[in-house]
Amino acid sequence: MQDYKDPRQWLPKMTRRRFFTSAGAAAVATSGLSQFAAADDLVRVDENDPTAKALNYVHDAKTVDAAKRASDRYCYNCALFEGESDDEWAACGIFPGKAVAGQGWCSVWAPKAPK
Ligand code: SF4
Repeated sequence: MQDYKDPRQWLPKMTRRRFFTSAGAAAVATSGLSQFAAADDLVRVDENDPTAKALNYVHDAKTVDAAKRASDRYCYNCALFEGESDDEWAACGIFPGKAVAGQGWCSVWAPKAPK
């Protein structure tokens, strides 16, 4: 006869493997939540990203050949730069979920409308 007062009789038996698998799943779920909470911390665009390369994006606009870029064109004064003009990094509509350098540039540059 089963003794219902003794939890060892009715609780599911958990092996060491099942315990650590559950703990691992909980850790993954928790890390996912923390990433969600830190959504404002955008990943910086990698200059070697295929889109960045196709658009000639660089973190430092001053490294671009003068024949390709007018000297007054930077991400911070581009219409697609989503930050303030003095932000070092901010989102850009060309690179969803990523940040570009305020001092950067790419060939999509367009003048920011005056405020
Ligand atoms: S679209 Fe504008 S803000 Fe975005 S990377 Fe190019 S120059 Fe910079």
